[in-house]
Amino acid sequence: MRTVTTFAEVAAAGGGAVGLVPTMGYFHEGHLSLMAAARSRSDSLVVSLFVNPLQFDVGTDLDRYPRDVERDAALAAEAGADVLFVPSVEHMYPEPPLTRVEVAGITEHLEGAFRPGHFAGVATVVAKLFAGIRPDRAFFGRKDAQQLAVIRRVAFDLSMPVEVIGVPIVREQDGLALSSRNVHLATDERDRALSISGGLLAAEALIAAGERRASVLQESVRASCADRVEVEYVSLAAAESVELLEVLDRSAFLAVAAQVGSVRLIDNLQCEVGPDGSVRTEFGVRLDGPSALYA
Ligand code: AMP
Repeated sequence: MRTVTTFAEVAAAGGGAVGLVPTMGYFHEGHLSLMAAARSRSDSLVVSLFVNPLQFDVGTDLDRYPRDVERDAALAAEAGADVLFVPSVEHMYPEPPLTRVEVAGITEHLEGAFRPGHFAGVATVVAKLFAGIRPDRAFFGRKDAQQLAVIRRVAFDLSMPVEVIGVPIVREQDGLALSSRNVHLATDERDRALSISGGLLAAEALIAAGERRASVLQESVRASCADRVEVEYVSLAAAESVELLEVLDRSAFLAVAAQVGSVRLIDNLQCEVGPDGSVRTEFGVRLDGPSALYA
């Protein structure tokens, strides 16, 4: 594997069908599962690592975002990456960009409502990565379900010749969704954070028992989180349009955002609705052992 810092070096490195895994680094098994999915469906695997200032909320955790390129390079090489692309902010934005990719509609609720400008930052940097690397396939985690919907729509609206592929959420053994930000959780905060995935599991059990009302599903998550984490939103949203639903009558995700101490966490339960109204839920994949995140 080669670690490179410019688009020109990425272009020189790979041949055949190119798979891209965009990340902000500090890898955990969620990132590694994207790399495994991409590895099996690509001739050349490019992993990008860029902590994109454009997508961080003003005055929040950009400076605090965990970084360790050497550690990440070792993990990416082990996962079979051919190229780790680690551009500088100056390479990505030699000048402040006058062009931004703004996606309407899909960004109105959930993260879009709580983090103004966030998705324009994400869509702009992903459009730049697609333009500069020209991958055949790009892989994103379903943990960021709204982000996945936004990127699919960007690629569709702008006729980008890339297939956007979603990969299941990877969780710790006890259910906590992996996130690079988890390294900032104190022990008691980590315990309280489990109320989020616990709430989603309670909602999953309700769905299995036939419940379809969004209000009831959302309430079960809120009840689990009450007094343990500060919930920002719990919403049932349509998978593609990210419209708020009152009834689970089409494919959707039950999304949560909560603040735990100084750490903001998001999680969701994927719900696929069949033509007969039956629902298949996907909580995600649990690790067999402790995460590499804490190694
Ligand atoms: P990040 O480095 O947090 O920006 O994430 C890079 C990619 O990894 C995004 O596509 C995320 O959706 C994905 N990702 C992050 N956490 C997880 C997880 N626990 N399971 C699956 N994918 C994840």
